[in-house]
Amino acid sequence: MSDSPTRVLHAEGLVKTHYGESGPTHAVRGVNLSVAQGEFIAVTGPSGAGKSTLLHLLSGLQQPDHGSIWLDGQCTDTWREGRWAVERRKRIGIVFQFFNLVSNLSVADNVELPALLAGMSPKQARSQREELLAELGIVGKDRNMPGELSGGEQQRVALARALVNHPPLLLADEPAGSLDSKGTREVMRLLSRFHERGQTIVLVTHNARLASAADRVISFFDGRIADDAQLDSAPSRKTGTSAVLELKD
Ligand code: ADP
Repeated sequence: MSDSPTRVLHAEGLVKTHYGESGPTHAVRGVNLSVAQGEFIAVTGPSGAGKSTLLHLLSGLQQPDHGSIWLDGQCTDTWREGRWAVERRKRIGIVFQFFNLVSNLSVADNVELPALLAGMSPKQARSQREELLAELGIVGKDRNMPGELSGGEQQRVALARALVNHPPLLLADEPAGSLDSKGTREVMRLLSRFHERGQTIVLVTHNARLASAADRVISFFDGRIADDAQLDSAPSRKTGTSAVLELKD
């Protein structure tokens, strides 16, 4: 815990149980995690392992039953929903599987909205939007509605929206999960490009091949971190069984 101030994100002892119709589900059962600036971490594991729940906890979209989260060294224990919403806008970009764009707002407005909400001037928001969409290869579609774009294009707009406030942390939950192989390659290439420029990324995916784009892979199994490995030459930091990460689609 002593190093938490230097981390973009630090979590200790996270526990989350969902109470559904079929009884309690222990989705996250005690997770400690530190994310250093500039890391590209993939959290992988089978469906139902608790990956999305973990991401929801890390972004304040759900509250843990136990445990604490620090963002840039700041403890979030006392943050309620409203505070999380404000802090998320500045500090965390989030991309989901189904894009979550506002369907009755244009592409331009979807990207500019979080910037305006965070207090950016309209002029600055527009220039940020133009820059990001050009960078992401969405040209001449600013006035289109999201439904008029392909899945891959919508996900790139979602990425622009997530990055418009230059958040220190980008969280992506199965960002290629609803895309064809071309769209998947596009999104992964863009994530890698932003990472190369220093963007800190935590990517949740059940697809171990996509996970291999990251430089650190956390295998999640049954609500716990089963393995935590650097993908370069650094030795694996094993915390349990490593049998979870099978390289298959
Ligand atoms: P993953 O992302 O690895 O597929 P999830 O975090 O989505 O895993 O789900 C973990 C477990 O928690 C699953 O058994 C899932 O059905 C359950 N779960 C997730 N969200 C809820 C919820 N809101 N209510 C009840 N159960 C849930």
